[in-house]
Amino acid sequence: MEKLKQKSIANQILFIILFAIALVSVLITFVGASLIYNDTKRGIEKEISAAAGTLQNLFENEHPGDLNSSAYFIYRFGEKVVVAEDFYEIVERISCSEDMEFTVFYGDMRIFTTIINPSGSTPVGTTAMDFVSEDVIGSGETHVYDNIDINGAVYMGCYIPIFNSDGTVSGMYFAGKPIEMAIENARTLVIRFIIVAIIAFLLSTFMCIFFTEKIIRNLGDIKQYINKIARGDFSAGMEEKTLSRNDEIGEIGRDALKLCTNLRDMVERDPLTMLFNRRSCLMKIRELMDNRMLYTVALGDIDFFKKINDTYGHACGDYILKEISAVMKKYADLNDSFVSRWGGEEFLMVLRSKDTGEAYSVISAMLDEIRSTEYEFEGQKIKVTMTFGVSKVETGDNAESAVNRADTLLYSGKQAGRNRIVI
Ligand code: GH3
Ligand code: MG
Ligand code: MG
Repeated sequence: MEKLKQKSIANQILFIILFAIALVSVLITFVGASLIYNDTKRGIEKEISAAAGTLQNLFENEHPGDLNSSAYFIYRFGEKVVVAEDFYEIVERISCSEDMEFTVFYGDMRIFTTIINPSGSTPVGTTAMDFVSEDVIGSGETHVYDNIDINGAVYMGCYIPIFNSDGTVSGMYFAGKPIEMAIENARTLVIRFIIVAIIAFLLSTFMCIFFTEKIIRNLGDIKQYINKIARGDFSAGMEEKTLSRNDEIGEIGRDALKLCTNLRDMVERDPLTMLFNRRSCLMKIRELMDNRMLYTVALGDIDFFKKINDTYGHACGDYILKEISAVMKKYADLNDSFVSRWGGEEFLMVLRSKDTGEAYSVISAMLDEIRSTEYEFEGQKIKVTMTFGVSKVETGDNAESAVNRADTLLYSGKQAGRNRIVI
């Protein structure tokens, strides 16, 4: 199998969450900024429209009559000549913000203005931008623009046409204000959002690491457990905390445990009787020997078992094997010992910390129970006897040698007539 690149769940969750936060932050920042920008612009638009309207009203009241010019730089409203001072006097009376600029156009030419060029002169005599002339003078309608360039700054401007009594357009009133403020407001907001987003980002990273660690903590325990089992180490265990979790991780832990227990049984136990098999019994004996423990082995064989099979059938033989196993397991458990199915109808009982005398008493009581029991199978009552060879482990023994001696004793018991214990 191709080797998979190792990825950590914690990092994957962290990435997803931080990506989502980044995305939301960017969205909020841009949507927020454009809302603020447009809102501020709307405010400015109202302000300049009101200012241009006031300029128009004041002019119409103070200087009624048609705007006309008889010579260069001489402008009249009706018969009355109006000069720059008249214009400034009217502008003075308009209450508005400091950075508001006013202009009066004759046709598309500036005749009075508050705008001052960087050089200190006023742009009197210059003309409005072509599109403004076309829109306002051409159509005779009020127009608002957000792209008026005044001395290099972007202004929002409102142009109101000046009508003569015959309905023709003779000029324009203008009021304008820089929209730098709208941009500035939006920029301030973006900066604030970015700061908040960075804080949220750091906070979420911290929280994410903390909670993810909490959520997936016990996965490591399960992983370790399965690793050990995969290497054949059935002594492995899991933390109680992992197994008692009430979520999917707890479930996986418990299932892994069940799976390994089943696997362990398959490897270590005989499927018919569920006793230890010969292989695992030998391993347990070696363990005892490694720990220099005293023990005695009793090898037992069912007498004339072939006859049971032949008379009552193989299924009955199986049944007897299970019943005998149960009795032997009961005695083993009572005596801190263990029993295995050594072969077909042969069982090996390993009696921990017992000498031959003590082992004899245990086996004797057990054999009494076996021989006095009538095993019932499909209405048939069957009686069973067994022969045992009992041998104590000696210094210099290996795992098999004591069992071999017990086997020899068992053989001699069979020779001597069966249904007995030979020590
Ligand atoms: P002895 O008293 O000398 O031990 O005679 P025996 O008939 O018990 O011995 P023998 O070795 O002749 O026969 C053992 C029989 O056990 C043969 C085999 O078919 C049977 N046997 C072994 N394993 C099983 C099993 O799992 N189930 C059943 N039903 N029979 C089994
Ligand atoms: Mg037998
Ligand atoms: Mg046998």
